[in-house]
Amino acid sequence: MKQPKPAHSRFPISPLWLFALAFSTCLLIGVAFFAPPLRLSQPHSISRPVSLGNEIPTSAPRIAAQPSPTPLSPIVLAPVSDPSSIPTPSDAPDSVPEPSKEPIPIHVPILLYHYVREVVHSRDIARYEMNATPAIFEDQLKTLIGDGYHFVTMAQVEAALKGLAPLPEKPIALTFDDGIVDVYTTVFPLLKRYQIPITAYLVPALLNHKQYLTTAMAKELAHSGWVEIGSHTSHHLKLNTLSDAKATAEIVDSKATLETLLDVGVSTFAYPFGLYSVNHPKIVQDAGYSNAVTMIWTVTRDSTDPYLLPRLNIGEKTGQKLLGFLKGFK
Ligand SMILES: [Zn+2]
Repeated sequence: MKQPKPAHSRFPISPLWLFALAFSTCLLIGVAFFAPPLRLSQPHSISRPVSLGNEIPTSAPRIAAQPSPTPLSPIVLAPVSDPSSIPTPSDAPDSVPEPSKEPIPIHVPILLYHYVREVVHSRDIARYEMNATPAIFEDQLKTLIGDGYHFVTMAQVEAALKGLAPLPEKPIALTFDDGIVDVYTTVFPLLKRYQIPITAYLVPALLNHKQYLTTAMAKELAHSGWVEIGSHTSHHLKLNTLSDAKATAEIVDSKATLETLLDVGVSTFAYPFGLYSVNHPKIVQDAGYSNAVTMIWTVTRDSTDPYLLPRLNIGEKTGQKLLGFLKGFK
């Protein structure tokens, strides 16, 4: 049976059909016209989290991008394998957490040594009290190294006090007074073995005497890279018993003599016997030194006067006894 023809084939172009065609065309144009704003609105809504993301600390996405939950640090950022995730120079400063602006408080024990030898005479009390045997001295070094101490020179302590350069973690300074020959024969080999810098305070009038450094030894120490040379006056006199003029001469002349003899700069000073008068720190400063050590019994802190730096005599303490002693200075 033959299907009846659709109505429109029977009425090819009627006004009603024309109206319907025109309406459809307008509808299509309308859709085409309004569609772009609808599409544009979609990325706009997606962009909201991105813009919010800019308000989140910039380090957060970087942490999320890391292969492990290790806290973010420049070292962690370095091995990122995806090149697209490596920070560009322009955004790198924002992507790494700023180091703490809080300066680490200065806390430096400065240890005072004289002799490092076997004391033969038990009644040699003065020497015994200023001595550590070579074995104990080495044990002290091992104790300090094992506990994470880092050895610094007086120049480093001074730079830290002036805010010029931070000290390493757990800093400690070793100083040797008087220029006793032990510094060359016993201490120097240990400095090279354990890579430890020290400061040696020399007295020009004592050089080349029995039990003291020769000028050649002192010069070798001074140029070894392990020994900072300081002055301990020209004649090792008690400064507080001298006139200001005589004290000034002891302080000024010893610096010039050591600098000429050893061909090094001398910028640190040690008061003999730890004794000084009220005018002496200023005289030391005016003489061109940049710091001075005493025998005040404490550690150096931020507020310490660089011309009255304290020092500690640890004697023959070692191991936990030594560490406990140092921890006692809060
Ligand atoms: Zn001395």
